[in-house]
Amino acid sequence: MDTLFDGLEQIASYILNIEKRTYWAFLLSSGVIAFIVWRVQKIKHSFFHYIFNRKVWLSKSAGIDYGILILNAYIKLILLSSLAVYGLHFAYKVNYQFEVWFGQPVKLSAAQVYVFYTIALTLAKDFSFFIVHYTMHKIPILWEFHKIHHSATTLNPLTQYRIHPVELIINNVVSVFIFALITGFFDFLSDEHVNQYTLYGVGIVAFLFLSLGANLRHSHVKLKYPSFLEKIFISPYQHQIHHSNNPEHYDSNLGGKFAFWDLLFGTLIRSKDVERIEFGLGEEDKDYDTLSKNLFLSPVRNLFSRIRSKRK
Ligand SMILES: [Zn+2]
Ligand SMILES: [Zn+2]
Repeated sequence: MDTLFDGLEQIASYILNIEKRTYWAFLLSSGVIAFIVWRVQKIKHSFFHYIFNRKVWLSKSAGIDYGILILNAYIKLILLSSLAVYGLHFAYKVNYQFEVWFGQPVKLSAAQVYVFYTIALTLAKDFSFFIVHYTMHKIPILWEFHKIHHSATTLNPLTQYRIHPVELIINNVVSVFIFALITGFFDFLSDEHVNQYTLYGVGIVAFLFLSLGANLRHSHVKLKYPSFLEKIFISPYQHQIHHSNNPEHYDSNLGGKFAFWDLLFGTLIRSKDVERIEFGLGEEDKDYDTLSKNLFLSPVRNLFSRIRSKRK
């Protein structure tokens, strides 16, 4: 019974926890930005109809988003809640190992730690996200799981959390590993100066990103940045291109916050180059139109047929 209520609390945290992208204030700020887009692009429907469109929020695809979110909240609670403890333990080990290898060559001041740790963790988190995402697209077995995020035919902010439990576990393990690695390294450089105060720096970067319309990535609001800026930051429309069912757009714009990883790997498409998008997997959409097909039936069937065709 406790797990049931803890799970409900976890679900509510998507709206009530400031660390979540869909925290109510970030949804509100995204709404304000959407209003500006609605005015500038002279959308012919009323603003209310534009934002609270039934075809977006009450579509079959959106229903699958909500189902997966609830399931993942429980998986996080049951399987991943102790991950942070392992992370702290690993950070301690990293710090210890560097001290064994190098002693204490430099000692950064608290202010230096604050600045460099913020930059290093922000870049490392974003790059690791890019690499994991790139791998999910390029390795066929992982793609079968990541497809669940791409099978959405309508996008709303909660589509962010439409990921297969296998991907959820991979993402969480990698992100705790990167956090621990960087934190342990900076603990070593600063005589264990990384603390709650230092973490505010990373929090501020995330807060800015989330306030500036991150929720519009998973939406039909076509917010584009000036073309030069889209080589540095991924705009919401660029992420919508990532969800396009047009083969020409496959495996593009894989970045989280920053676009320069895509530029480096040759996977960047800018908004000016794409006029129209339809979301989803194209012909395969019909294999992903229920919750059970997304979570179980289609991934298992496709994985077996991949293994079988390899054996032939
Ligand atoms: Zn993807
Ligand atoms: Zn997405």
